[in-house]
Amino acid sequence: MTAPLAELHCHLEGAMPVAMARELAAREGIAIEDAIAGERYRWNGFTGFLETYDRIAALLRRPEDYRALAHAVLGSIARQGAIYAELTVSPDHARRSGLDPLAYLGAVAAGAHEAERRHGITARLTVVGVRHFGVEAVEAAARLAATAAEPLVTGFGLAGDERVGRAADFAHAFGIARDAGLGLTAHAGEFAGAAAVDETLDALGVSRIGHGVRAVEDRRVVERLAREGVTLEVCPGSNVALGVFSPEDHPLRALREAGVRVTVSTDDPPFFGTDLAAEYAFARTRGLDPVMLTRQAIEAAFVDEPTRQRLLEKLALAALRLGAPPATR
Ligand SMILES: [Zn+2]
Repeated sequence: MTAPLAELHCHLEGAMPVAMARELAAREGIAIEDAIAGERYRWNGFTGFLETYDRIAALLRRPEDYRALAHAVLGSIARQGAIYAELTVSPDHARRSGLDPLAYLGAVAAGAHEAERRHGITARLTVVGVRHFGVEAVEAAARLAATAAEPLVTGFGLAGDERVGRAADFAHAFGIARDAGLGLTAHAGEFAGAAAVDETLDALGVSRIGHGVRAVEDRRVVERLAREGVTLEVCPGSNVALGVFSPEDHPLRALREAGVRVTVSTDDPPFFGTDLAAEYAFARTRGLDPVMLTRQAIEAAFVDEPTRQRLLEKLALAALRLGAPPATR
């Protein structure tokens, strides 16, 4: 038996199992084999990654596809031992497939409920705006998240190419999401350096940063993360596959030792040849305790307090059975 796992950073479309991509491609009469190698997707360089990502996401055409995808992805995460997962959902990608954004969110939520019933995993959805689609698009995504009236939508985030625009450009969008009571996170400090993390905290007031690993380049930014209790959604497999860090140089442990709240996630698992169990296994090779990682994830999760307490109790019970040492923060 292993400790219960939790994941805060998994893009729904980017987690599509290869078998499902094959089925959808066959149904739609689209050739996709050149983008597949075994159980993962094949791509070359960051631009190639984005292109393949869009090709895979474009295979999803009907609300039913998204329901099935959410169920499959959460089912897989649950089978690896997770009790909690947040999926990042991108209404802009759905819209590009000709889908109404509310129908999209409803279908994903239906799949998440189904996964909870069948696999016992608790799930929430974070709507993201895509940075390189521009400020207007990100504000539209924030308004959608704020007004969707879908109880599983509890967060708002910023994804896409971090090198486009400044964090402050998106402050209005984050204001809309904050006023609606949504949890806030933004990708930063992956392809842009430590200054981008600093800037994102100043401009957007997020409690979590997607990646944030390049904060390690500036001691003052690391100290700020620790002081302000910001949680990093660290995705080591993604960082290694995209060449941000080598496994040997990955700063997960250094950040933890500096007092930063760290968690591990998969980002886009079949694109990076990873899964949540592999991310936890990597963290363990760095001396990081899985119970600590799951606790930090649940503490930073975008859930209501009764749900958080219920998840923490579930974790504490499992840790007790594992004979793990009592809670340390
Ligand atoms: Zn991401």
